[in-house]
Order: sequence, then structure tokens, then C-alpha cells
Amino acid sequence: MSEPDSETGKYHPAEGPGREPKANAVDIGEGHRLEFCQWQGETAGVIDWHRNKAGAWCCGWVAFKQSKWGLQFKSGDVGWDVIQREPLTLNPSLLCKTCGDHGFIRDGKWVKA
Ligand SMILES: [Zn+2]
Repeated sequence: MSEPDSETGKYHPAEGPGREPKANAVDIGEGHRLEFCQWQGETAGVIDWHRNKAGAWCCGWVAFKQSKWGLQFKSGDVGWDVIQREPLTLNPSLLCKTCGDHGFIRDGKWVKA
């Protein structure tokens, strides 16, 4: 992981063409796959992979609050609340700023908003 915005922690893992989820990404249904990202010895968050309306892979970085990653930025604790680690439940919903995809991760599954 590299080059987040030092002020806000915003991070764009998939900028540029030709990116796709790694083979170990977890299928959570509805065409979504989660890539768990480690940083400083703990899970910092997930990359939420999904298809855009054109059928190409799109993704967004979803930091976990209270992780070392989430706590390092000037704007404070950035990211999503981890309601439950296993199976994963996050709050609030995930809205992709790139393609508009919107839904929730609840009990390890993607739930459309
Ligand atoms: Zn998207």
C-alpha cells in the first residue's frame, strides 16, 4: 500500500487501466470481491472490487476505523466502523465514487442498497 493522501487518508488502489482483484480476493456475492490489506501487522481495510456498468473492474479502498492505518491521518480516525470482523460487517454503506455502485457489507455478504 502506498501514497494515501496524508490529510484525509483517501487512497485509490485501482487508478489506471488493467487492474483486477488478486486471486486471494474473497467473493462476497453480487459480483463483489474483497481484498484484505495488511499494514503494520494488522488488517487496515479492504479493497472492494466490483464491475462498473460497462463490465470493467472497478474498486474502492475501505479503511477500517481504529486500525493503525485509520488513525494516522490529520483528519482523525478515517474509514468505516467494523461492527463485526468475522463474518465481516461494516457501517455505514459503501458508495463507489467512481461508478456509483452502492451497498452494504453485512455478515460477509454484499447487500445492495
Ligand atoms: Zn465502482
